[in-house]
Amino acid sequence: MIPPTDAAIVTVGTELVRGLAVDTNTSEIARALSAVGIEVREAVSVPDDRASLTAHLTRCGAAYDLIVVTGGLGPTHDDVTREAAAEALGVGITRDPRLASGLQAVAARHADPRAAEQVFRQADVLDGARVLDAVLGTAPGQVVRTARGEVLLLPGPPREMRPLLQTYLRDRSGARSEPVVLRCAGRSESDLQMAAQDVLGDRDDIELTVLAAPGDVRVVLFDRGAGAAALALAGAAIAQRVGEACYSTDGRSLAEVVLDLARAARVSVATAESCTGGLVSGALTEVPGASTVFLGGAVTYTDDLKTTVLGVDPSLLETFGAVSDAVARAMAAGVRDVTGADLAVSVTGIAGPDGGSADKPVGTVWFGIAGPDGVRAEMRRFSGDRHSVRERSVTTALDLLRRALPPE
Ligand code: ATP
Repeated sequence: MIPPTDAAIVTVGTELVRGLAVDTNTSEIARALSAVGIEVREAVSVPDDRASLTAHLTRCGAAYDLIVVTGGLGPTHDDVTREAAAEALGVGITRDPRLASGLQAVAARHADPRAAEQVFRQADVLDGARVLDAVLGTAPGQVVRTARGEVLLLPGPPREMRPLLQTYLRDRSGARSEPVVLRCAGRSESDLQMAAQDVLGDRDDIELTVLAAPGDVRVVLFDRGAGAAALALAGAAIAQRVGEACYSTDGRSLAEVVLDLARAARVSVATAESCTGGLVSGALTEVPGASTVFLGGAVTYTDDLKTTVLGVDPSLLETFGAVSDAVARAMAAGVRDVTGADLAVSVTGIAGPDGGSADKPVGTVWFGIAGPDGVRAEMRRFSGDRHSVRERSVTTALDLLRRALPPE
């Protein structure tokens, strides 16, 4: 049985507390910790103030197994995290010669010798700390033991923080099996929870969590004593029960799965987007290597462009409106013709907040799919605000592509 692990997240920066910068680290770290079964019980932002940070770290160190701290590890005078953590933990700080020599080139770039000297503050390591070498930027991460567990110090910039957090979690997970994650689309969170519970029965050596993002649900199984093999078996059994709605069990995103399926079947893909404004092609092109199957797409927001770029018959737009079965089909068929793609998806909908009507309320979205066997369309009614309607539309468009491709 693995002991329960709890955590606090402390983000450091006067700009965060004053509302001048948005704290994205907290949600990113909280999601990453939750995904490996660490329960985040507190999250706090504190200014660049040594006394206040020391007080928070002292309190959290006594209350939680893990404290993740971001920010304040840079070279300047207001970067006080190292000193505050050392004081809270009652340890000293020593300059690490290996890290210092790695900073020589950075220091040499400064004209003022005092600025150059400051750079070396980033080589200051809390006594007994394990150093996580910087992947991007210059500030390394540090892991220090506390009476209850550990403090993890990470740099503030998200792109510097992210790889070090991943390194820490990967190292830490060595002692136990990784959670199994089933990613699903097209089924409700509750449906998926029921399906998973039916398979798991009342076993208490596997913990089930269902995490939902718009249109994209993750069923996560944590090892609570079952072991890696039993966890994998349970995951496979749930995936089988969920059926086609489960699109990956190996961490791949929906866009990655679509591209992999298309590649395997040698099918080229194109998109025609209205209310999603390019987000579907954005999701596909975010995946490295998309160009092997994704030919491109058109963002046709106005009726005119639907006609001039995609060849949608103006009489269809006039008779049925842009958000309709007929126009979704014509858009998909049009972009397939224009690009020469084997398979095309179209999206046309009312993302809101305005533009809805009694028969086409906000959230009404039509999708067209055009392939070698013909063209069809499907309609969805999404709830939520503009952002969530667009996000759900992207997931649905990708999912329709996935289902139109030959399975693995
Ligand atoms: P650096 O070596 O870049 O100075 P640092 O660890 O000292 O790293 P900070 O100076 O605290 O980090 O923050 C640098 C920048 O990183 C901030 O201006 C902000 O843009 C971004 N940042 C810091 N904390 C967060 C956070 N919690 N969420 C999102 N962005 C953050």
